[in-house]
Amino acid sequence: MTTPLSVFLPFNRDCVGDAFVPAKQGGSRPDVSGHWLIVQNQGLLVCGDGDGLCLPSGACPPELEGRLVEPLWLGTYKDVPCWVSSLSGEGPLPSGFRRETLVPMQGTRLPDDLLSLGGMAMQALWWESTSGHCPRCGQRTERIAGEWGKRCSKCRYEHYPHLHPAVIVLVRDGDRCLLARKAEWAPGRYALVAGFVDNGESLEGAVRREVKEEVGVDVDDIQYVGSQNWPFPSQLMVGFVARYVGGDVAVDREELEDARWFPKGQLPMRPSRHSIAGFILQNYAT
Ligand SMILES: [Zn+2]
Repeated sequence: MTTPLSVFLPFNRDCVGDAFVPAKQGGSRPDVSGHWLIVQNQGLLVCGDGDGLCLPSGACPPELEGRLVEPLWLGTYKDVPCWVSSLSGEGPLPSGFRRETLVPMQGTRLPDDLLSLGGMAMQALWWESTSGHCPRCGQRTERIAGEWGKRCSKCRYEHYPHLHPAVIVLVRDGDRCLLARKAEWAPGRYALVAGFVDNGESLEGAVRREVKEEVGVDVDDIQYVGSQNWPFPSQLMVGFVARYVGGDVAVDREELEDARWFPKGQLPMRPSRHSIAGFILQNYAT
């Protein structure tokens, strides 16, 4: 039996703990001042450099006035209101600001608390950009008071931010583990089998199906090991380890370029500390 470890990965709200209080938990909307989570092209606008990266704070930065979409109140961090907005286009940033990528695979330098707040900001913006019209009848929606949810002004249909569950799994067989790669990835990069959960499927069922479809083998003894909220744009990655029980490796060429067994502790790459994939490889493949 595998006991799940505590997963304090960036993008999980646990990373900022009780210091962050989501906006919808009540209270009246504060003045539009505080920390600014301004997103542009999957990057976060920050001030400072190196270890001193920090969010713009105070009133709306005057240098950006007129270039930002209507700010959303995300919640409070360390008792300071957090405001989310986005900056469109590629125009030059005012002096004193820089854009740091939120994407781990692009080598983000943001500390975990800013990654987690930035991830929530990206998801809030994604929800705003996709929920303006009713998915049933096409009419404009209105925000439900005190909630992120939206209600259709015509048919009254209500919907709330969508998270898409996906499974990610390390297949193990004694002292070896099975990894796969896509053709478009950097040379030498291998990763875990992963995929979205289908209608009607359990998480364990999705693990069995994805592994069979993508790499051709059968697994059993499927153990949950942790999860990560992944804001690109809105997945919930549910991590597992599973035991190989049979079948030859057969790669789904529409999805993957290669899949092969690697001896534990001799992975072809160093796992990123930012992702559930890295967490699983670090803790269950060495
Ligand atoms: Zn409607």
